[in-house]
Amino acid sequence: MQLTNRSKVVSDKNMTAMEAAYLPAVIKGMAVTLKHFFMRPATTKYPEQTREFSEVYRGRHVLKRDEKGAERCTACGLCAVSCPAEAITMVAAERKKGEEGLYREEKYAAIYEINMLRCIFCGLCEEACPKQAIFLTKEIAPASYEREDFIWGKDRLVEGVEETKRIDITKRQDR
Ligand code: SF4
Ligand code: SF4
Repeated sequence: MQLTNRSKVVSDKNMTAMEAAYLPAVIKGMAVTLKHFFMRPATTKYPEQTREFSEVYRGRHVLKRDEKGAERCTACGLCAVSCPAEAITMVAAERKKGEEGLYREEKYAAIYEINMLRCIFCGLCEEACPKQAIFLTKEIAPASYEREDFIWGKDRLVEGVEETKRIDITKRQDR
């Protein structure tokens, strides 16, 4: 059965002098090159250039703080349970007296890790979180040659306390 209508009958007739010089083929090839030279490139020079992301793009995660700067995560484990890639692990701890400014809830994640090599950026952890603590941002998770660079702990996940270091995800929250 014929799959396309682009089949060509092969003939063994002798080439003309013009064809033997490959001139028509060379001119045809040059025309194609010239056409593409003036066309808008389909590629971007990443990382210097980046494409505009869609509103629902899901990139690297952030663990949010509340308006007073305390970590919102209460180590309930719902994000880990909902993760289809089993990429999230955590160790819970109890908040001590005097740590109210650090952790919003009585229980917090002493260790919280995401294996970025397993993560498929599906966003189910974000949807499962009852504390609005974890969100996927528009930032691309950086590449690396070392496997251990892909185990992201709290040092890389929790946003900074200072206003300038906060990661704005209001658009996602509004949704
Ligand atoms: S985005 Fe999906 S795969 Fe990645 S950690 Fe969250 S739930 Fe797991
Ligand atoms: S990020 Fe949210 S769902 Fe995950 S452990 Fe913390 S509070 Fe629970």
